Amino acid sequence: MSTTHTGKIDIIKAAASKINEVDFENLSFGSVFTDHLLECDFINGEWQKPVIKPYAPFLLDPSARVFHYGQAIFEGMKAYKDESDDIWLFRPDENFKRFNNSAVRMAMPEVPEDVFMNGLNELLRLDEAWIKKGKGNTLYIRPFLIATGQGVIANPSDDYKFMVILSPAKSYYSGEVKVLIAEHFSRAANGGIGAAKAAGNYAAQFYPTSLANAAGFQQVIWTDDATHTKLEEAGTMNVFFRINDTLYTAPTSERILDGITRKSLIDMAKKEGIAVEVRPVLVSELVEASKNGTLKEIFGAGTAAVVNPIIGFSYKEVYYELPKIENSYASQLKDKLTNIQHKLAEDTFGWTVKV
Ligand code: PMP
Repeated sequence: MSTTHTGKIDIIKAAASKINEVDFENLSFGSVFTDHLLECDFINGEWQKPVIKPYAPFLLDPSARVFHYGQAIFEGMKAYKDESDDIWLFRPDENFKRFNNSAVRMAMPEVPEDVFMNGLNELLRLDEAWIKKGKGNTLYIRPFLIATGQGVIANPSDDYKFMVILSPAKSYYSGEVKVLIAEHFSRAANGGIGAAKAAGNYAAQFYPTSLANAAGFQQVIWTDDATHTKLEEAGTMNVFFRINDTLYTAPTSERILDGITRKSLIDMAKKEGIAVEVRPVLVSELVEASKNGTLKEIFGAGTAAVVNPIIGFSYKEVYYELPKIENSYASQLKDKLTNIQHKLAEDTFGWTVKV
């Protein structure tokens, strides 16, 4: 191991790289991690000096608040390598802002921009060999913040740990996706934490999603908790509906995560001349559009899968299948977005940022 001390960050390099043990052609999403991680502790009200060090397990006190009260948040973003070996991020400022919005909602300290951004950039430069060129190859970035303070006392921790870990990822294809529209369970409620990337939001979905899986559906589309009549979002994706040639998606709210893919697709679709309406979409409208043949597409949008077409949905025990269509909005928009992300098309929006 060698240690470098710069003004802002300590870098402890791994003695050897694990990269040759990795089969980059057969990566299972989120299961392989690079050689290093970024760590920065918050102790006694102050952020400490960040450090990049070898990826490894670490110790926490069994009474740490994260284990008992779930004070934990995270982000999901990706890095891309272009043909000239330059590394790019996609709208990282949006992830940074959303991370700190989540922190505020969970009574956690906001991470300083230079810790998040410079730390991430240094980490990416160090593990750059893990970012492969070519469309479909990405490095998934997982920043997270956990409450490390000791004591099983139900109030906010004094101490926190911020970390960034990196996982090489192939283009994520989850196969044919059939969804179940939620009639009883909810993901979020007004006044709750649905708009934050809080760890517990995801744990709370596991049980209803496992029931849906057992019934033959890959995902649940969540509806509003008060009436279960409005379509909101899927597990880790925002959702879009195409009725005739108009694209509809729910407005963001206290219950819905403000997805970066979602807002990028809205801007891109508008630029392509596709009519987009951001307004609550009713389950009854979807059922009606499916019955009268005007429902053309449903797709999810999020960093991991980018755009994920849905082939059918079930509501009140009735299954509605979507038509197979050529040149779908989903495939057009996915292509355009991934071309921008991989620097294969001009980024007229100014979304890509060089590391
Ligand atoms: N909704 C939820 C609940 C999510 O976890 C995610 C993934 N971050 C999204 C939507 C999509 O957001 P983004 O496009 O920023 O990845």
